[in-house]
Amino acid sequence: MTEGFDFIIVGGGPSGCVIAARLAKSPARPSVLLLEAGGPNEDAAHLTGTERYEAEFREGSPLNWAYMTEPQVRGQKIDYSRGKGLGGSTAINFCGWVVGSSEDYDEWARLVGDDSFGWKNVRRCLQRIENFHDDVPVGFRERIAPSSEDHGVGGAVDLSYQKEWLPTTDDVFRAAEEVGLGINPDVNNGSPIGMGIGTACIYKGTRKIIFKQGVAVGVKVTSGPRFRARKEVIISGGAINSPQLLLLSGLGPEQELRKHGIPRVLDLPQIGRNLQDHCFSTAGIVIEKGSATTPPLQQSPSPMGWFQLPAVLSMRDMLRFFQAPTWKRKTVRHASWPQDSSDKAIWEAFSSNLRSSWHMAGTVTMGHNAQEACVDSSFNVIGMQNLRVADMSVCPLLPNNHTQSTAYIIGEIAAEKIVAEHGLNQVRAVL
Ligand SMILES: Cc1cc2nc3c(=O)[nH]c(=O)nc-3n(C[C@H](O)[C@H](O)[C@H](O)COP(=O)(O)OP(=O)(O)OC[C@H]3O[C@@H](n4cnc5c(N)ncnc54)[C@H](O)[C@@H]3O)c2cc1C
Repeated sequence: MTEGFDFIIVGGGPSGCVIAARLAKSPARPSVLLLEAGGPNEDAAHLTGTERYEAEFREGSPLNWAYMTEPQVRGQKIDYSRGKGLGGSTAINFCGWVVGSSEDYDEWARLVGDDSFGWKNVRRCLQRIENFHDDVPVGFRERIAPSSEDHGVGGAVDLSYQKEWLPTTDDVFRAAEEVGLGINPDVNNGSPIGMGIGTACIYKGTRKIIFKQGVAVGVKVTSGPRFRARKEVIISGGAINSPQLLLLSGLGPEQELRKHGIPRVLDLPQIGRNLQDHCFSTAGIVIEKGSATTPPLQQSPSPMGWFQLPAVLSMRDMLRFFQAPTWKRKTVRHASWPQDSSDKAIWEAFSSNLRSSWHMAGTVTMGHNAQEACVDSSFNVIGMQNLRVADMSVCPLLPNNHTQSTAYIIGEIAAEKIVAEHGLNQVRAVL
């Protein structure tokens, strides 16, 4: 038997959960089915502190799709983890909350010709999402000073600064000042340049699975049941799984479909292409004993520096930061440091330690037509009816931030558009 729902959302990550919750709670109260491949994810060990990191990266973890890349620039395969279960990758991520630059969102709006994606609207969405706790320790007030006007209170995502700050945090700021990088009192107000501290969504040490109430969760369809969407199907499987699902369903580059013997439903050449990610590399210093007293696994805020430069140049800037007098006095040795200061040596060190920040995006990119894009600015799959994609895969550019905030924003904007299009703001609009 086929059961019917007004809306079916595939994928319970941040974008999918926001859409499900906003639709289900709209005045028209449509029926909403949220399909998630993983489990409900309620185990406390998956939601708190460091236990989670062990659980999610363990071999065979039910929380992780455990993808690896193909061999990269030096032949190395890179961990390409994706969260599996309610909350998606937010259930396995590191809880850093960084919203990025207003300019990136204004550029997104320009690219797709829709002001919904501009900073003005994004800022309004963020204020709906946030429940901001301004708990900067007294000793750091001079350097970290968020303004209440830039943040929301009463949203579903609790944001706060970490309770305990590393003793060396002060050195980080001092060193940044010494090498002229500048201090930013709030990296989350749309102007992220400079050294500052981002917030985290792990208020009081516990993270919350959001928007659980009021939506159907945990239904598996791999064993055969079918569910009917009276209004729409919305794919929110994330930047790896959304294009995969579309391709398996026959939407994608014709040649690719043919290669795998998948019957073509729609030739959409850009599906699965344009993958973007924030790669990172490491170089560090070991400082003398006694100059940092914090044990390695203790939770503490990580200072964030955003310096808008290509790989070699930004690595050079980081090396300059570590050579500030404050660090030089305490440095015992360098770790993962380039052989010398030439571009070649820096690139070699950079590319040997290459990792992913797990910020994959862009694989079902948003734009104007089927030659250059897969969805329009209302998240509709170009050339299909009643099918949308709304998650990180639609980003036409990867904003310069940690991406969970963007995934929530996408959910908010998509939900507002769907609610408006179907008149769900009126009671009884959906019968
Ligand atoms: C290890 C790690 C650390 C990270 N750290 C941070 C951080 O500290 N700060 C930050 O801002 N961002 C971080 N990120 C990135 C951030 O979590 C993601 O950008 C964000 O979660 C993406 O949201 P999404 O809704 O697009 O997809 P996802 O969160 O990936 O959710 C997709 C969901 O869809 C489900 N799904 C997929 N296919 C199907 C299917 N066929 N049927 C049913 N369900 C399906 C998946 O199981 C998953 O639950 C991290 C990511 C990872 C993996």
